[in-house]
Amino acid sequence: MNRVDPTDHPTVATAVAVPGEVAVDEVVPALASWSTVVPAGETLRMVDLHGNQAVDCLLYAAHDTTERYSAQATVVAQRNVYLTTGSPLVSNAGRSLMHITDDTCGRHDTIAGACSRESNTLRYGHHTIHQHACLDNFLHDHAQRGMTARDMASNINWFMNVPVEPDGSLGIVDGLSAPGKYVDLRADVDTLVVVSNCPQVNNPCNAFDPTPVRMIRFVAR
Ligand SMILES: [Zn+2]
Repeated sequence: MNRVDPTDHPTVATAVAVPGEVAVDEVVPALASWSTVVPAGETLRMVDLHGNQAVDCLLYAAHDTTERYSAQATVVAQRNVYLTTGSPLVSNAGRSLMHITDDTCGRHDTIAGACSRESNTLRYGHHTIHQHACLDNFLHDHAQRGMTARDMASNINWFMNVPVEPDGSLGIVDGLSAPGKYVDLRADVDTLVVVSNCPQVNNPCNAFDPTPVRMIRFVAR
C-alpha cells in the first residue's frame, strides 16, 4: 500500500468536498479515539486520508445508549456479511440507527471485532500486551460520558477487508481502501458514533502503519 501526502492528493480533495453544509470537520490522529452525536437526518463522512486505515466504530441511540448497534441484527436484516451502500446499521432493538448512503471503498467488515490487548496477546504473543488497542480507545471515550466496559458491543470496522472464504474461514488481508476513499452514514435517529482509529500494527488492517482519518458531519443538500 502506497502512502501519500493527503494535503494535495486529488482523491482526498474530492472526498472532503462534501455535498452539503458542514457542521463538524476534524482530523482524528493515528491511534486516537473520537466521537460525535449525529442528529437524525445529518450525514457523517469518514475519509481514509492515507489509505488502508481501519476505523473501528460503535453506534448508540443518543438518548438511550442501552440501544446500540448489533452486527448480528444487521447481518440478518440485510442477509449479507459485508457493509456497503444501502446497508442499514441495525440496533439490538431491531431498528436502523444509520444507513450507508455512499461508499467509494465498496466493502467494510462487521464480523471480525475490535482489537484488544487480550486478543493481541493470544494472536501475536505476550510481548504485545503493552500495545495500545481499540478496546482501550473505546473505554477511554466511554469514560468521558459515564459509560463503561458494560457498554461494549459489537462493532463495525470501516475500510477493513475481512473476506469470508468458501469454507467459512475469515481472512484479515490487505485492504481495498486507498487515499480519499470514503463512506457516508446518514443518521435515521440521533446517533452517538464512537470510533477508534485502529492502532493495530500486527496485521495488514492498517498496512502496519496507522494513519490519520478525517470526519466530516454535514447536512446533505
Ligand atoms: Zn483495532
